[in-house]
Amino acid sequence: MARLEIRKDGDPVLREKAKQVPKVTKRIQKLLNDMEETMYAADGVGLAAPQVGVSERVVVIDVGDGPLHLINPEIIEAQGRDIDSEGCLSFPGVYGYVERAARVKVSYMDRGNKEKRLEATGLLARALQHEIDHLDGILFVDKATQLETTGRETEQRQGD
Ligand code: ZN
Repeated sequence: MARLEIRKDGDPVLREKAKQVPKVTKRIQKLLNDMEETMYAADGVGLAAPQVGVSERVVVIDVGDGPLHLINPEIIEAQGRDIDSEGCLSFPGVYGYVERAARVKVSYMDRGNKEKRLEATGLLARALQHEIDHLDGILFVDKATQLETTGRETEQRQGD
């Protein structure tokens, strides 16, 4: 496994519409492993392939229940609404409140090429919507209100 470079705000790959993955190959499995390692190293709960410069529909998520690998994830049902604070590994130190569906049903392919579905609420529902947005070039700052940058990050930027 290898850690990948996380692309930051302003990188054009973050705005591209990512391609469908026809089949999970060895290359995609390696990408999943590397994305997982990168996500854990950065202390994130989710990472989408465009965030590591790969414009393909691949997502990893771990909200504390172990890693989920999702290929071609798609929201097939969404209910309710929920507003909560959100951040993104491509926007270090930036947080904002984003309205999301409270409950989603998602179809996807797993790393063994099996079609699967999952239903989620809470943080997992939020992470799924955030990461699937990445695959369409949509970033949380597009939807957020009350964007804030934490003081610690500001200090680090001033020190650059
Ligand atoms: Zn993000």
